[in-house]
Amino acid sequence: MKAILALDQGTTSSRAIAFGRDGQVLASAQQEFRQIFPRPGWVEHDALEIWRTQRDVASQALASAALSAGDIAAIGITNQRETTVLWDRATGLPVANAIVWQDRRTASSCDALRQAGHEPLFTARTGLVLDAYFSGTKLAWLLDNVAGARERAERGELAFGTIDTWLAWKLSGGVAHVTDASNASRTLLFNIHSLRWDDELLGLLRIPRALLPEVVDSSGVVARTFCDGLPPDLPIAGIAGDQQAALFGEACHQPGMAKNTYGTGCFLLMNTGTRAPASRNRLLTTVAWRRGGVVNYALEGSVFIAGAAIQWLRDGLGIIARAPDIDALAASVPDAGGVYFVPALSGLGAPHWDPHARGTIVGITRGTTRAHLARATLEAIAFQSAELIEAMAADSGIALRELRVDGGATASNLLMQTQANLLGVPVVRPRITETTALGAAYLAGLAVGFWKDDAEIASMWARDRVFEPALSREGAQDRLVQWKRAVERSRDWARD
Ligand code: ADP
Repeated sequence: MKAILALDQGTTSSRAIAFGRDGQVLASAQQEFRQIFPRPGWVEHDALEIWRTQRDVASQALASAALSAGDIAAIGITNQRETTVLWDRATGLPVANAIVWQDRRTASSCDALRQAGHEPLFTARTGLVLDAYFSGTKLAWLLDNVAGARERAERGELAFGTIDTWLAWKLSGGVAHVTDASNASRTLLFNIHSLRWDDELLGLLRIPRALLPEVVDSSGVVARTFCDGLPPDLPIAGIAGDQQAALFGEACHQPGMAKNTYGTGCFLLMNTGTRAPASRNRLLTTVAWRRGGVVNYALEGSVFIAGAAIQWLRDGLGIIARAPDIDALAASVPDAGGVYFVPALSGLGAPHWDPHARGTIVGITRGTTRAHLARATLEAIAFQSAELIEAMAADSGIALRELRVDGGATASNLLMQTQANLLGVPVVRPRITETTALGAAYLAGLAVGFWKDDAEIASMWARDRVFEPALSREGAQDRLVQWKRAVERSRDWARD
């Protein structure tokens, strides 16, 4: 056996990467798919298109590395989290488009649950806050708005799943209806302490139990492939949500180790071991992975707009032609000239959770140029992450020793240096930045003995570059105080 095949089903594209025994990429393939915006604030995907693109890139990756079925030890799945699919068990057809994690259509039902006083219960049981981000209210919306869905769900004719569940179902020819504990922990329906679907929460959201998948380990054989386009009988041996997979792929196996992913948004996760600390600072407590029935938890901070702010400079303002151009433009000025850009383009995530905040640029003077704005954009990404780290240290009682990073925007050296300056700890960029897919591969490979243990995996993790802090703590504190003033000005802006 030569390889593990990781399926990385992301928000904008489906990817497949084959990894060899040394953790190196043997082959990869990627396909974008349609983003459907039926109304402002709504975001949908066609689940069948997700399946087709995912299956096709898997088969392309195998072909391009000339890998045959006998070379593949296992398949690992990692996925955009929270996105909600509801399908017919008999036909395997979705009853509606999938509702994507970014979709805000259930913000008012979250408000209603909060006003009814239910948020403390949801938080205590699930580790989450009541936000439209998570699957529970999206599933309830589908049951209430797709004709006949609720009756069919009660009769056991429909199945619910996040994207991992949907892919495992399709890959196994409708045999497996499973989700791993990390994905389950993003639904608002799963008790992260008892590790069971929670009847009281299901009752509050009026969700029939018959819809729910079985919750399985993140590492372990759950099914075998049986579908068109892929070799039969390959074991599906690992499943984890994308951010949890990245934590594993960064080899953050020990409590206190943390990673930050700089993609469309930023997702900072700190391993908290077998403890599930309740957050006092509006971070999420979430399942990192479950292995051999034992759960490892994490604290998570999610920032909705990070690299997407760079895309907005490119597509919305046209002040750069390509995302990588931001570094040189931002480096052409010594600082942001007093400009602060709060990229609350779709509200603010952790730790503010303000869906009504909107993008705000303050401190503009006659001397402000597009270079200052470019620099303020990179700084905004670093400021938002610094706020998360601050909250995390307060919640966990663990001071960070270093921050491991991944994601597309880590290509910006200026961003990485700014981040180290604000945090006061080294920021470490690994050689392989495909950590999400790698994490899924590791979870699957460990399950089938392709890799021996965590130590072997940790030994494969290698640094590309370390960014050491080069700013006094007082200097960093002053900058953060200014940033927080700017955030205040962005808040509570949009009114329904
Ligand atoms: P996702 O998985 O969320 O789609 P990626 O990890 O692929 O995100 O990262 C894409 C993001 O990285 C984009 O938002 C883009 O703005 C940013 N990005 C890509 N290249 C660079 C670069 N060289 N410098 C700064 N940002 C970049």
